Amino acid sequence: MWHQSVDWNYPTHIRVGPGRISELAGACEQLGIRAPLLVTDPGLAELPMVQRVLESLRGEKLAAGLFFAIKGNPCGENIEAGVDALRAGWHDGVISLGGGSAMDAGKAIALMAGQQRPLWDFEDAGDNYRRVDVDAMVPVIAVPTTAGTGSEVGRSSVITDTQARKKRIIFHPRMLPALVILDAELTLGLPATITAATGMDALSHNLEAFCSPSFHPMAEGIALEGMRLIRENLPRAVADGSDLGARQQMLVASSMGATAFQRGLGAMHALAHPLGALYDAHHGLLNAVLMPYVLQANRAAIEVPMARLARYLDLAHPGFDGVQDWILELRTEIGIPHSLEEIGIDNRQVEKVGRMAVADAAAGGNPIALDAAQYSALFERALRGVV
Ligand SMILES: [Zn+2]
Repeated sequence: MWHQSVDWNYPTHIRVGPGRISELAGACEQLGIRAPLLVTDPGLAELPMVQRVLESLRGEKLAAGLFFAIKGNPCGENIEAGVDALRAGWHDGVISLGGGSAMDAGKAIALMAGQQRPLWDFEDAGDNYRRVDVDAMVPVIAVPTTAGTGSEVGRSSVITDTQARKKRIIFHPRMLPALVILDAELTLGLPATITAATGMDALSHNLEAFCSPSFHPMAEGIALEGMRLIRENLPRAVADGSDLGARQQMLVASSMGATAFQRGLGAMHALAHPLGALYDAHHGLLNAVLMPYVLQANRAAIEVPMARLARYLDLAHPGFDGVQDWILELRTEIGIPHSLEEIGIDNRQVEKVGRMAVADAAAGGNPIALDAAQYSALFERALRGVV
């Protein structure tokens, strides 16, 4: 049924179906946007697709502008430049088109549109979000071109503070985009390696949310079905990039992962965040490699949810071992390396990685509270490939 065009209103307004990018001008109209700023990344900005989108918006008499001066990990300066562009063009809304970086940048630019305070005043700590002047925000339409981060349904942006050399999470409930378009045709051009790595990020979101000990049965249900979609569609999307049905299901599963992880993440992300910052490695690929080692470390606390997951996915073997076997087979099938060493990570900062992991916001969702030494030991096993 993936080929149906459907509209959902949970967790935000979502238009689902191939080709629905053509409805972008109408989506602007629905939100009262007359002059959208299209925020995308430099790689996408060069593609004819972005030019076509701009032309179609201008053809509908919308005063569309383009901003693409953002890094792979967007930084505070990128957001300031984007806000300048937004104000200079009298833009009254943002269209975030791209992968996680375009999503995060677009959402932060829309938040900052008319704020008087600096960006870091809204870092996700305590009730900092209350400092936001909600009337000074502009609406966001999010159009993902990768299936992984799920940032299109998230309420925060990860922005790099270049002076402090760390990533900060900027949060406000209203940063959830007002409208999302999940159009699988936009993901058809992704190479197999990126399809695999981003798809495993979506799996890690669903899986870590499912293992989190906090009480949130709604998120649990979403995570379970998200993992079923990934089991059935990620190998297909990697094997045949033109499989539109598999691509559409992966986009949905990606949004489901980010919806589910309001329940919490865990040690995969607690380690992937520092490793991404220290080694500039791909976020999804890090989670993909780390996955079986983290499951093994958490084993004592997750036997019950793993048994339920194995039953729901109808795996060959029951319980924890059934899930672990599936993860290891899936990684092999879609070409994910087995150890962190194989993706260029070394053992020179083992203690630092452990300290950073335990301090990471994602660590709080792990089913077992690991200390820095335990994170270091887990990291070393993933380095050497010892599950
Ligand atoms: Zn992730």
